[in-house]
Amino acid sequence: MFGLGDVLYFPIVRFIEWCLPQLGLNYEILTVEEMSNTYGLTNTKRNVLYIREDVYCGAIKGNPRDRFTLCHELGHFLLHTPDRVSFARGKIPAYRDPEWQANAFAGELMAPHYLTYHMNLDEIMVQCGMSRQAAQIQYKLYHGK
Ligand SMILES: [Zn+2]
Repeated sequence: MFGLGDVLYFPIVRFIEWCLPQLGLNYEILTVEEMSNTYGLTNTKRNVLYIREDVYCGAIKGNPRDRFTLCHELGHFLLHTPDRVSFARGKIPAYRDPEWQANAFAGELMAPHYLTYHMNLDEIMVQCGMSRQAAQIQYKLYHGK
């Protein structure tokens, strides 16, 4: 949709700034005081993505953790609209957990299998701008161990 299908280093900040508004979604940068321990928050009812300013600045600088946080929130935004999310009681399989889904979305957005299947762990980290931990999860999905 945005011509990013073969881009290895997903431009999450530019995506939030330029592409989200085209989808009718807004974002707001809030101070650390306003957000306290929360890095990012998605309000799917109001169509607003709240981002803590230090996370936003970190993502601009290419900090892998902050980039992942924004991709995770984008996942909530796109996957968990009020009409698509349902609340479960009791134990549910991991993949039905919205947090698991947002993490899986972020991993696949940053290191899509079709672009990274031939790469080793370090290449994924560097070329996709991911932390070792996040890159490892993607790598293990397709290579085992
Ligand atoms: Zn989350």
